Amino acid sequence: METAGVTRMRLVGGNLALDFVNTRSGPPAGPPDDDVLTGYPDLVAWARYAGALTEAEAATLHRLARDDPGRAQATLARSLRTRKQLDELFRALATGGRPSARALARLRDDEAEAIGHAQLEHEGGYAWSWRHDGSLARPLRPVVHAAAGLLTTGPLDRIKGCGACRFLFVDESKNRSRRWCSMEDCGTTEKIRRYVARRARPTR
Ligand SMILES: [Zn+2]
Repeated sequence: METAGVTRMRLVGGNLALDFVNTRSGPPAGPPDDDVLTGYPDLVAWARYAGALTEAEAATLHRLARDDPGRAQATLARSLRTRKQLDELFRALATGGRPSARALARLRDDEAEAIGHAQLEHEGGYAWSWRHDGSLARPLRPVVHAAAGLLTTGPLDRIKGCGACRFLFVDESKNRSRRWCSMEDCGTTEKIRRYVARRARPTR
């Protein structure tokens, strides 16, 4: 059931909400040119891959989706709308701007709904858990909660956009010098691009 696109992607956001935003890829500016979430099963596979669901929960959700494909499709559509909103919200912060009042109100509503379906459980410490939320919207809950957490506790000044693609990440480097989503992908590509540009430049 899992699509190759979902399990091949790098989780580089440092936060579940940013990793969710990063399921769309493309150049740093302009519209995205690829999306790994093309069906509800992709959403479940991604959430499992990102560690937001257990294997058993993922299996249950796949079954629920097969039983009610219409509702699964509607849940995917809603999740993609939320992703677009989170994208705009965190991209605004990454570029030194501020999210709109509307974006904040939407996140408040989504977080209220997510918490409304959570339970407080003790496992080492107390934490919200959606283990018993048997609804198709289950994959989205921890994403929304992570977004609200990042927005309210930060570090907002460490949210950045990759210099060579549209991925967002939390820069956890000591001297805040991270520029790429990953050195293996964009860092290397950018280095090669600069090298080629240098070589192509006339010597005088
Ligand atoms: Zn990148």
